[in-house]
Amino acid sequence: MDTSLPILQTFRFQNLNLKKYFSPGEISHRGSIDETGVNIDGVVYRNAEIIEYDKYVYIVSKKAVLTISITPICNAKCSFCYNGITFFPGVGVIDDSNSELLKVIDFSQAAGVRSVSISGGEPTLFPQQLLRIVEQLNGRFEGFIRIHTNGSRLLSKLTWHGKDGMLWEHLFKAGLKDISVSRAAIDPIVNDRIMRFRSGESYALNAFKELVAVHPDTLRLSCYLTEGGVSSPDAMVAYIREGNEQGINSFVFRLSSAIPSEFAIPGEFSIGNSGPFIDTNVFKDYLINLNYKLRFSRQEIDYDLFILEKDGAEVSIDRSSDVPDPDRKIRRILFMPNGLTYTSWLESSSFLFPDQSDLMGSRTRVANTAKPYPASASRHALYSKVQSVFADLHVHSLVSDGVLVPSEAMSRLEQAGITTFAFAEHNCFHDNWRNLVGYGTNLGITIPFPGTEISCAFFDETNKIPLYRFHLLAFGLPLMSDEFKGYIGKANKLQNEHVLKCFSRMCSQLNISDEVDIFTIHDSVPSLVSSKHLLTRTWAASFGIPYCDSDLSELKSKYFPSIDPKIKHSFTLNITEVIQRVRDLGGITILAHPGWVRPMHPNLDSGFSNILQIILSLKSAGLDGIELYHRLNSEEQVRSLLNLAIDTDMLVTGGSDFHGRTTDRLRQQGTNEANFDRIQFLLQARARVHKNHNSLFELNPQYS
Ligand code: SF4
Repeated sequence: MDTSLPILQTFRFQNLNLKKYFSPGEISHRGSIDETGVNIDGVVYRNAEIIEYDKYVYIVSKKAVLTISITPICNAKCSFCYNGITFFPGVGVIDDSNSELLKVIDFSQAAGVRSVSISGGEPTLFPQQLLRIVEQLNGRFEGFIRIHTNGSRLLSKLTWHGKDGMLWEHLFKAGLKDISVSRAAIDPIVNDRIMRFRSGESYALNAFKELVAVHPDTLRLSCYLTEGGVSSPDAMVAYIREGNEQGINSFVFRLSSAIPSEFAIPGEFSIGNSGPFIDTNVFKDYLINLNYKLRFSRQEIDYDLFILEKDGAEVSIDRSSDVPDPDRKIRRILFMPNGLTYTSWLESSSFLFPDQSDLMGSRTRVANTAKPYPASASRHALYSKVQSVFADLHVHSLVSDGVLVPSEAMSRLEQAGITTFAFAEHNCFHDNWRNLVGYGTNLGITIPFPGTEISCAFFDETNKIPLYRFHLLAFGLPLMSDEFKGYIGKANKLQNEHVLKCFSRMCSQLNISDEVDIFTIHDSVPSLVSSKHLLTRTWAASFGIPYCDSDLSELKSKYFPSIDPKIKHSFTLNITEVIQRVRDLGGITILAHPGWVRPMHPNLDSGFSNILQIILSLKSAGLDGIELYHRLNSEEQVRSLLNLAIDTDMLVTGGSDFHGRTTDRLRQQGTNEANFDRIQFLLQARARVHKNHNSLFELNPQYS
């Protein structure tokens, strides 16, 4: 490649190792990233371990904690419980011999995870399994092994390895280092009420005296700040004092910062997690006034953590909700009662291990409801089933360069068994899109959103030269604004003016009246009669056949030369700008058939690695996804693109690019259900941001 080409001056590829997109199985890098940090694909990672497992490379924070949630069952029913939101109900208890559990323990150990929390539900409801799991962990992790319990069974008696004792005694012998007891109020009666225990299930604090005496500094009280319980700084200080009197020196006070609305399942648990009623700073400042020393302080939009200390007692005040992973660094590893391992409490599709994605449909709450998967779900989970064709998001009709009128195109889709599809005409939309939706409904076909395929190019920004020709799919109702239609329609306008000029010349030479209307598409379904937005040379030349002895190709070459590429280039849209415009309007963009992308100058590198680099650059400009499954992408390209999509968390779609020709094949390439749901979800989220949701709701009743 000629390195003086402008493309090399216009974007830099930061530490990009393209090799991994070509040979994912060969990656073998392992090591540590220290405080200085390492730039991987434009993101700086610090303090992490890098491990390879099952052909994937994982970046795991040095502070990551493994949480093993052994059951969703609990004898309390706190309104602030995440259980009601994140866990699949109806699951019992996980056993210590569960192979997925053993796998995640191995993985965590290999990744240098130091500490383990065991939670639920209420883990002490299943003491035998709990004890066996603690024994499994014993000696394998340097940090703490802690259980999170509501405390109601800690003093219960049982026999373990032939010895009688209280559960807490057996747990410490098995290897437990820490116990965190959820306690919304010190007074047992008030605590029973807030945690909705059966009356008498909360012990008085002094019942733990022996535990505290035998294992000092191992019992922590965790208090969810709530009205009716601890709701003021005074009440917090009284709580600490009473704990101190019983020898307890560690306290956590928690506030929810509200579950993000897209994850909240309506009901009492969402209400209990509906957001802070008081500022954590008020509590922190109160303790500072009482001579507590602030040892750690961190505040972000969705997260506060203050750690304070006085006379050997430690008090944490925190506010947080789980938020989607901002990058690929794994901060938590969560083994859930449904036997799957996630990296986020709230994202049911954030699988750690790709092979678990097969279980998604049967074992997760979100997957079993009509709710779509969260947008930034795990890279791995969503891709493995892509080959299943749920929706065809790339269909043309005569409105642009297809050969069938819209009703015929839709009949062909229906006959092929396609029930969800989107038209993606070149640089235009169907004017009567609502009629199409209605007609589709009668056929049993859903057209969920309008789409278009936009001709554009990747530009050298310095010299404003178009370098590579791309097609970009764009979806979303707000794109049908006149302004946007005019913007993308420039290429069609140039082509139409050229074809009309050629058509006139042919008409005058063949004595055809040039009054012939070549813009109306006479669909046999009256409501679908529409306008042709893109005049193709073949289409216009076909009008000459009855008037001469020439066949179509002769007419085409005689009367319809191609447009001068230089003129065409001058009308080319800049793909980066198009992506931005679509995003600003609340739509989404998918790069169409990357295997087809063409350099526009003979001296430009046409190798696929260059296209992958450009895709990365477009991703940072806002590109949402790649049309992965398309007949123009080779198998090798699909492999590379898939790895790129997984690593950068892009949507992957597929489509037939159906033009109505006899050679076109339907149902062989398509978009899977998970990615289709993500598109719907993204459009819904963007419509909210862009305040276009009224129109979106009107057309997509499933959103309401
Ligand atoms: S005790 Fe814990 S697991 Fe049980 S309902 Fe309350 S918050 Fe949920």
